[in-house]
Amino acid sequence: PWNNPDTVPFIRFENVTKKFGDFYAVDDVSLDIYRHELFALLGGSGCGKTTLLRMLAGFEEPTSGKIFIDGVDMAGVPPYERPTNMMFQSYALFPHMSVEQNVAFGLHQDGLPKSEIRTLVSDMLALVQMSKFATRKPHQLSGGQRQRVALARSLVKNPKVLLLDEPLGALDKKLREQTQFELVNIQEKVGTTFVMVTHDQEEAMTMASRISVMNDGVIKQTGTPFELYEYPNSRFTANFVGQVNLIEGVLVDDDEKYAIIRSDDADCDIYIDHAVQGHQGMTFWIAIRPERVRLITEKPEDTKYNCLSGKVEEIGYLGGLSTYHVRLDSGIRIKVTEPNSTRQIEPRYTWDDRVWATWESGAASVLSQ
Ligand code: ATP
Repeated sequence: PWNNPDTVPFIRFENVTKKFGDFYAVDDVSLDIYRHELFALLGGSGCGKTTLLRMLAGFEEPTSGKIFIDGVDMAGVPPYERPTNMMFQSYALFPHMSVEQNVAFGLHQDGLPKSEIRTLVSDMLALVQMSKFATRKPHQLSGGQRQRVALARSLVKNPKVLLLDEPLGALDKKLREQTQFELVNIQEKVGTTFVMVTHDQEEAMTMASRISVMNDGVIKQTGTPFELYEYPNSRFTANFVGQVNLIEGVLVDDDEKYAIIRSDDADCDIYIDHAVQGHQGMTFWIAIRPERVRLITEKPEDTKYNCLSGKVEEIGYLGGLSTYHVRLDSGIRIKVTEPNSTRQIEPRYTWDDRVWATWESGAASVLSQ
């Protein structure tokens, strides 16, 4: 399998560290990215994601560690000699040039024949659906259209890797959502490996084939959107990717098939239907997504359900969803979301209703950190 392009990493970070003075912006990161992936580096402000991207582009050199692209060690290779191209958040289009001149600019610099440039530019404008705006200047375009021109300009030279720093950061919410799908479609058509930096977890989840969640210069977890959401490895990832209820407790009983975690906070024993890695007395956090919690008025007989009683404290109606905050009798709060199906168009519960918050014993993750 060593020469299978889908299993050999196309980009490899090997123990990469970047220090600014005494400060570790990136701390011993190892990561493999595969050909044709749309990969997202996700994290809050200052977590080191942009620094990692800039090292890939060659704008920064690692303090230690190695970066390989397509098997080649990038140490000392300047940005313009790397098989990468960077699309910046600010788009940086030339204001005095038309759309097609902007896209053609790099090709002219490379000295390509005019007829070839014309074909490449027109194909690329068709791909990003900007053909009919070819003669406009950037100031005559909307933000979304400028973004598409910037993408065309970055892709026209056919880089092996396109680096995108908050590519949709300047767009409003509605346009962002629409553009997310367009970008994914274009990436699938051209097949270029995309590495994207974003602080927006929804954007990363919608677009990326895989995501690395970063914090304080380290990668906390790498996986598909599904893996990160369903199997977070830490409270940090569980919190960062989607909404979550976290309940702290101590392992009091377990074998290969089940575990019981005693939570003083929730004043109950929580039943888990699988083994957990750890010894009795160890602290764990139960992570339950709000949509996995059901609110009911009768306590279920079935013991496979964990069941805590409380009162509805807050209700949010979001059209397709209702959200509830339930104050459990123990004092902690649980967040619950329920879909509003066509027959169930209003929230089922109201302020101060007595409810049982229940979830199946298999519905929660058990986290040790
Ligand atoms: P943001 O989303 O805010 O851009 P980020 O995750 O992209 O955040 P980086 O730009 O990678 O963060 O920066 C990581 C850390 O390194 C930050 O604390 C930043 O202040 C620091 N840093 C980045 N570049 C430099 C530099 N040239 N000199 C000193 N410190 C730097």
